[in-house]
Amino acid sequence: MASAKSRARTIEKLRALQVEVTYPPTARLTLLQGETVVVKYGGHALSSGGLPPFAADVAYLVRAGVRVVVVHGGGPEISAEMEKEGVLPAFVHGHRVTDEATLKIAERVLSGRVNREIVTALERAGCKAVGISGRDGSLLRARYRKPKVVDDAGRETTVNLGFVGDVDRVNTRLLQLLQGGGYTPVIAPIGVTASGQSLNINADAVAGAVAGALKAASCVFLTDVAGILKDRADARSLVSALRYREAEALIASGAVTGGMVPKVQACLDALSSGAREARIADGREGRPLLDALLPAEPKGSAITP
Ligand code: ADP
Ligand code: MG
Repeated sequence: MASAKSRARTIEKLRALQVEVTYPPTARLTLLQGETVVVKYGGHALSSGGLPPFAADVAYLVRAGVRVVVVHGGGPEISAEMEKEGVLPAFVHGHRVTDEATLKIAERVLSGRVNREIVTALERAGCKAVGISGRDGSLLRARYRKPKVVDDAGRETTVNLGFVGDVDRVNTRLLQLLQGGGYTPVIAPIGVTASGQSLNINADAVAGAVAGALKAASCVFLTDVAGILKDRADARSLVSALRYREAEALIASGAVTGGMVPKVQACLDALSSGAREARIADGREGRPLLDALLPAEPKGSAITP
């Protein structure tokens, strides 16, 4: 007799298959076949229990011949772990600084826990997946983020942000090797400098850089909000389609704030380095990735050059 565990696994597999047979065929899927889609799965979407449907969506696309790369965040998990271990977030002149203790926790939580959770979910959905951090094979060569110059009561102060980096170069060959072997890469947002130092990198920025380097057909950011809102307080103010300059203007005007700023900036960076479109959509409901990519009128916001 099958064990409870293997029965549960079979049911999960059937669920994944059900997604495959029940999602209506769309013309957009044909356009994506043979193309690369980079998807950033946000820390906030992750903690809301949306992982199995997300994994089923990735498996569906991969089976259909789309080359998917997953990049994940993990901010809430890192904050929770810091609190548990009594490591206080460090701030200098209002800027968050990644000190050595924070970096260690971030690396451990991202590579050791969140990455594995996603790989396990993908494998369960029938998608062969390999988890890698930006350190592996120097996938994400990074440089220290430039220190901030702060106007502090009329004085200019330079704030060293600590072990935080920006992506310098993406080892696309490693990603292509994995994909060539039928594996979906799952990337933890840790970079490595030329001298071997780990740096914490914003996961949105990693997704944008990877999408640009791979000339992705689409770079999708799944988060905990329907998309870009013109007025943050008004859920009906969703902007469903916008051009590069309009997105830039939404940052400049202050309509886009907080965690949405690096996201929209990453969309712009992806577009200016060669991705064909960028999308921001809710990762917590429906078929999160398929709904953002496949319908004639996809969910969320789409940014095009
Ligand atoms: P993630 O974990 O997916 O990176 P973040 O919390 O970093 O999520 O970023 C998404 C958040 O950005 C939203 O939950 C929302 O609170 C905030 N936000 C700020 N400005 C906007 C805006 N104009 N439209 C939508 N969300 C916005
Ligand atoms: Mg974020």
